[in-house]
Amino acid sequence: MRVLISGAGPAGLTAAYWLRRYGFSPTIVERAPSLLVGGYKIDVRGAALQLLRHMGVHDAVVAAHTDMQGAVLVDKEGKVINRMSGDDFGHRVGGDVEIVRGTLCQILRDHLGEVELLFGDTIQRIGQSSNSTEVQFTKHGVREFDCVIGADGLHSNVRRIVFGEESRFLRDLGLYLCVYSVPNYLKLDRMEIQYSELGRIAAIWSSRGDANAKACFGFAAPSLRIDLRDRVQQQQALRTVYEGIGWEVPRLLEIMPTASDWYFDTAAQIDMPRWSEGRVVLVGDAAYCASPMSGQGTSIALIGAYVLAGELAAASGAHPRAFAEFENVMRPFVEANQALGLKSAKLMRSGERKSVVGWLLKQLMRIVPGRMTEWIINRSTERITQAANAIRLKDYSPFLRSNEATTH
Ligand SMILES: Cc1cc2nc3c(=O)[nH]c(=O)nc-3n(C[C@H](O)[C@H](O)[C@H](O)COP(=O)(O)OP(=O)(O)OC[C@H]3O[C@@H](n4cnc5c(N)ncnc54)[C@H](O)[C@@H]3O)c2cc1C
Repeated sequence: MRVLISGAGPAGLTAAYWLRRYGFSPTIVERAPSLLVGGYKIDVRGAALQLLRHMGVHDAVVAAHTDMQGAVLVDKEGKVINRMSGDDFGHRVGGDVEIVRGTLCQILRDHLGEVELLFGDTIQRIGQSSNSTEVQFTKHGVREFDCVIGADGLHSNVRRIVFGEESRFLRDLGLYLCVYSVPNYLKLDRMEIQYSELGRIAAIWSSRGDANAKACFGFAAPSLRIDLRDRVQQQQALRTVYEGIGWEVPRLLEIMPTASDWYFDTAAQIDMPRWSEGRVVLVGDAAYCASPMSGQGTSIALIGAYVLAGELAAASGAHPRAFAEFENVMRPFVEANQALGLKSAKLMRSGERKSVVGWLLKQLMRIVPGRMTEWIINRSTERITQAANAIRLKDYSPFLRSNEATTH
């Protein structure tokens, strides 16, 4: 059975890995000219760690983890107001592991085996008939597949082509995130420094093996309409929102226009009544993005891909049954994790609320910002840990190809 996967991110690579092991023939089409390496750091937690072990990549992921030594919280003058361990700051407990997104993708790709990869291409059209799909690529002409998996992220191309415009499914959280590389002029060694207010966070970190540091901004701006394709406008928005913040912010903003990489996006969730239409199905951020505010986007993308491939194998490729079961298994887990994103976005925006709680939080943030930030982080760690473990991975090992050694 030929399965086309759009997107070589954590979800797409994981789906391809398992599909191949169940005897399917996956092809991945990735828009970027090569695997996207580098990027921001992400956490893999809870049930997703068990999945990494099943895939035989857990040790490689742990060996490549960011090894963050600690986090320092500062005030506007740069005075240290609190220190936390790297794991506490990143909401990590037990074996939770932090890794740069691109490094994780590289590890997944190295373990992929024989899978056709079409880089630098994208799907233009998907036609469906009762027994196949006809896919028109920008560069690779027209080809037939039995199923198409959209694993192409928050702004999914497959979702737009098959299900409709993004705006129908996007739950905007009223927040923006920006990450870019800066010279490591503070000589940080696996350290993070953060300035936080309710509604405005600025941070700089250096992770293991990165000669540069990363500047990171997260801010609430429900009234701003920032064009996600216009870097100049985004930079102007950052200057406006961060005006008057001391610490290193003016310097980070000064470096901003020369940054070689640039990530700027709205923090949003994807909320869809169904994740499949005929022979096309979505997984990961494309189907159910929980937003970076949840801290769980990668874990639920990995697990969703495992479940989707497993259900296709369990149904012997009968896609209607497989897609229905994929949703049954994943929906409650996704909802628990999306709730995390909603909760932390609400907290970030609480400074705008004209309520007693909003007022109180603002005052506490002003008087004891270090303690407050630590309290907020610890509270959400409990919630994240619970949601990260809110699924029991099904065992699909009986469906592995007989000549495949099982790692279960
Ligand atoms: C700042 C930040 C911090 C984050 N922190 C965390 C965290 O701590 N923990 C966590 O679990 N998650 C975190 N996330 C979220 C996490 O990165 C995503 O949820 C996760 O990567 C989703 O994986 P995915 O494979 O579904 O999509 P993506 O990682 O978005 O991958 C999609 C792939 O599809 C490709 N693509 C896009 N369009 C096309 C097209 N038209 N044709 C072909 N290919 C296409 C892209 O190039 C990409 O390779 C964070 C995200 C950000 C931005």
